Amino acid sequence: MEKKSEDYDVVIIGGGAAGLTAGIYCARARLNTLIIEKSLLGGLATYTSEIENYPGFPDRETGPNIMKQFEKQAKRMGVKIKLTDVKTVRFGIDGHHVETFRNIFHAKSVIIATGGKPRLTKAKNEEKYLYDKGISFCATCDAAQYTDKTVMVIGSGDAAIEEGMFLTKFANKVVVSVLHNEGIMDANQIAQEEALANPKMEFKWNTLVDSFEGDGHLDKVVLKNLKTGELEEVSVDGCFLFIGYIPNTEILKGMIDLNKLGHIKTNDRMETNVSGVFAAGDVRDKELRQVATCVGDGAIAGVNAEKFISDMETFEHKILQKDKVGLIYIYSAIDAIGREILLRMQKIEEEYKDKVKLNVIDAYKGESLCRMLGDACDNKGFCKKFGQVNLPSVVYTKNGRIVEVSSNLTKDTVVNKLNSLLSTTLS
Ligand SMILES: Cc1cc2nc3c(=O)[nH]c(=O)nc-3n(C[C@H](O)[C@H](O)[C@H](O)COP(=O)(O)OP(=O)(O)OC[C@H]3O[C@@H](n4cnc5c(N)ncnc54)[C@H](O)[C@@H]3O)c2cc1C
Repeated sequence: MEKKSEDYDVVIIGGGAAGLTAGIYCARARLNTLIIEKSLLGGLATYTSEIENYPGFPDRETGPNIMKQFEKQAKRMGVKIKLTDVKTVRFGIDGHHVETFRNIFHAKSVIIATGGKPRLTKAKNEEKYLYDKGISFCATCDAAQYTDKTVMVIGSGDAAIEEGMFLTKFANKVVVSVLHNEGIMDANQIAQEEALANPKMEFKWNTLVDSFEGDGHLDKVVLKNLKTGELEEVSVDGCFLFIGYIPNTEILKGMIDLNKLGHIKTNDRMETNVSGVFAAGDVRDKELRQVATCVGDGAIAGVNAEKFISDMETFEHKILQKDKVGLIYIYSAIDAIGREILLRMQKIEEEYKDKVKLNVIDAYKGESLCRMLGDACDNKGFCKKFGQVNLPSVVYTKNGRIVEVSSNLTKDTVVNKLNSLLSTTLS
């Protein structure tokens, strides 16, 4: 089957808090923006019973309600949305390609906001009881079916303790398996205090899951005491795992820099190591994974994607202009020698009148243009990274193609090179 091709300015993979925010910023900058989401718009936060710490919702709003507002706003801004799974991506200096089962989407910039998926305990029989067989990852979705029953929660972080307390509104008893010594949890202090005071919550300290047991449906979790090695069978009607998330980066392996745990490495501008490809939200290597930080990431990624596209257009049409021999001068505006040489370059351009076009890039302000030059130079085999070239430097172009990078900036050298470029036809 031939795949249908569509062009966008920006394609965002993942429609959670980070992706929807990036979409709002891109669409508001009048970019033709597509979000591709494989399951539920709103992402992980839609599985959260209550979100107490996202500003602007003082009355303990639910995750689904907050995320519905994100979705409405993105749609109102004109973001296009496709509900399908991204299978592969290809990044190149001639544009990026995002493939689903039926389509190939071509984009000037891609924002990866694919979040993560729940970590499993790797205890015996776990695979047998996942989802509708008794092991769940979403209290909001599944709590009601455990009304007046007993459930176990695995973990002691914010998600485990807060969702565990939510479960006590339905279940008679919530048994919490905690790795640490008695009284020690990873959750925030307020959640810990509330949980310890909750009569429906019972804690199994120093334990991890040894196996899941049942006859078709989970009815027992066997816990192992880490100190004594003793096994304890706990009868339950269901079990909720809240032991962290693994980043959804399988489709990116070998294409983009990841850390040891598979999170995408970015800088403060959410740029990855690939030009025009940004990452935002839980999927990236960062300190705090919360809706508020995902929103911040999404905003930064959106703004920088817009800047990247605008720089790319400047780069292609102005910097690598085709009509004249090009002299691109890259310098640091705070360097006195660099400023002096700038005057020399301007005089040279004047001498050549309409035959040579000078473009000036301040390396500090024009970092993204420098990066594009670096990529283009790399392609021509001149230098791997533009950052490796001394400042100030010049790049000579002809017919919109890079010919040479040089830090020899004497008037004679520059004039000789320009003369030679003007007198030869480039193959
Ligand atoms: C139980 C629980 C409670 C939480 N409580 C809070 C809280 O109280 N306050 C708070 O601020 N945060 C809370 N969080 C954290 C918060 O939910 C996350 O930090 C945030 O939702 C992550 O947003 P995201 O956009 O980065 O990723 P996600 O929301 O995970 O969105 C990523 C999206 O990408 C999609 N996707 C992945 N791969 C592909 C692909 N190949 N093709 C297409 N789509 C793809 C996924 O389907 C998903 O919808 C909680 C999390 C959990 C699990």
